[in-house]
Amino acid sequence: MENMYCLRCSRPIEAGQKSVAVYLFAQTVGIKPRQKSAAQRISFCPQCSVSLAMGPPPEGALNMAAWGMIRELVASDQSLNHAAWENLNEVQDSLLPTGTDSVRPSAQSGGYFEF
Ligand SMILES: [Zn+2]
Repeated sequence: MENMYCLRCSRPIEAGQKSVAVYLFAQTVGIKPRQKSAAQRISFCPQCSVSLAMGPPPEGALNMAAWGMIRELVASDQSLNHAAWENLNEVQDSLLPTGTDSVRPSAQSGGYFEF
């Protein structure tokens, strides 16, 4: 089983963890023999999914297609928004108040905020 990462923020996504998976494969049409590529799986964590969906449309036809699908998921049910909110809460809990000196374990911070 391959290690998966959020395409946008590179946060690791473990098996069974809440995320959005976009599957992509290519297939020939009207050409014999019919050929089909292996499917690629692209993952987004809940925060990035919601953030992408709320944001402006991206450049590029493929990006637009993926954006449209993620928007559909985010718009149709609150559960993905809720998962993003839960994750954000966890990050919030691991942040130390301003002025605190103690060393925060890097594994917990994930290193996606650089100041
Ligand atoms: Zn992400």
